[in-house]
Amino acid sequence: MRSGADKEGCAATAARVAAAPVLAQNPVVIVGSGHSGVAVAAGLRTRGWDGGILLIDSENGLPYERPPLSKELLKDGAPDDPAVLRKEKFYADKGISRLAGASAESIDRDGRTVLLSDGTRQAYHRLVIATGSRARPLTVPGAGLPGVRSLRTRDDALELKRLLVPGTRVAIIGAGYIGLEVAAAAAAKACEVTVLEFQDRVMSRVTSAPVSRHFEQLHGQHGVRFVFGAAVTSIDGGERAERVTVADGTAFPADVVLAGIGVLPNQELAADAGLGCRDGILVDGDGRTSDPAIYASGDVTRFTSPFDGTSQRLECIQNALAQADRVAAHITGQAAAEPEIPWFWTVQHGVRLQTAGVRHPDDEVIVRGEPAGGRFSVVYLRDGRLAAVDTIANLAEFRTAKRLIAQGVRIDPVLAADPGIPLAEAISGTPSHDHAAADLAAARA
Ligand code: NAP
Repeated sequence: MRSGADKEGCAATAARVAAAPVLAQNPVVIVGSGHSGVAVAAGLRTRGWDGGILLIDSENGLPYERPPLSKELLKDGAPDDPAVLRKEKFYADKGISRLAGASAESIDRDGRTVLLSDGTRQAYHRLVIATGSRARPLTVPGAGLPGVRSLRTRDDALELKRLLVPGTRVAIIGAGYIGLEVAAAAAAKACEVTVLEFQDRVMSRVTSAPVSRHFEQLHGQHGVRFVFGAAVTSIDGGERAERVTVADGTAFPADVVLAGIGVLPNQELAADAGLGCRDGILVDGDGRTSDPAIYASGDVTRFTSPFDGTSQRLECIQNALAQADRVAAHITGQAAAEPEIPWFWTVQHGVRLQTAGVRHPDDEVIVRGEPAGGRFSVVYLRDGRLAAVDTIANLAEFRTAKRLIAQGVRIDPVLAADPGIPLAEAISGTPSHDHAAADLAAARA
């Protein structure tokens, strides 16, 4: 048990305020019902929390899976409803109350209540902010025209699906995960797709040039056109968007414009309450904010990586779930699982890119295998240690890499460049796990 085990009650506070629904004692109120919020609720029950749990969801319906929104859901014939995270029965069986179509407007930290959008106040014993992130808005003239979309929610995805019909001219702004996954879906539906990207290559934020090149070529084979170094200056049209203009004056005709230009953390609730925020709510390794009664979890948080000591805001499901477990562990006074190496994936035109670890732009880059063959990996070394790996159509190597990164092994670059040598045999020095762990501990100290 942790010394921070959380046993104090707040029944007195609960009695003073109007709260709907009525919760059991010591309520944990979770604001946000995405992957992380729902996982906190489930984790609390798994770990034996017997107080009340309330999940607040700004959307209606049951919380759902987000990865399919930019992939399967857009396909013709695919069901319009993404899979739910948990069935209705789960919430009922576990005594998890839900408030759908509601949001938390402000926090009274002294009174330990949150003001809800219906004007009522909800008392909390512990508050968890799992509000996620929102699409960064496009701010150029014409961005508000009908036909200009972003993609974050189920409703966004369904509207986009409706618009993507054969022959539609689709301009996608941003060649990140969203832009490229939608480009693949739109091309498969015989749309004419043009991707406009600031940088000089696709996915520049998350991967290296060899992987970018591979995916650019893959998209090209499916008819997707790219314009790099493109700074969009306006969207023009009459009743609807008709074209996108970039800084050199070139105009690209478009019936549909999708902005996939990154996300902003939904941190306002925390910032307005005076909690520490800096492009994300600042939390420690247990998800604690600067207020001991308030935690935060998922995309909305910023924290220090236990692996490389950098300040990070991770936008991935793995982090959403891992952090949720740490929050649930801390609230219940139990030990959390060991930190897991972050991992990410995307599927474009049926090709799966799986990433383990977080690469830094100045890492040494080693390509394993021949990209033209469609199955290869890229290994990233930092001070000789395995820091991250991208695998393309190679799930087995991804799994190995994840394990080796966690062990902090040193890798021989010459051996690593030979795809005939398993990655686990490219370890340099003493391949002992204990030795690697000791090295890593020393590096972190
Ligand atoms: P992203 O990965 O940050 O990519 C956005 C890209 O758009 C960046 O390359 C960015 O360049 C560029 N950009 C920004 N402003 C632009 C402008 N005005 N004109 C042209 N290009 C511009 O963000 P995203 O693709 O929108 O994804 C949003 C979120 O969804 C992320 O959290 C992502 O992780 C998540 N998501 C994940 C997956 C997955 O894991 N498979 C799938 C879908 C969505 P700069 O770097 O220069 O800003």
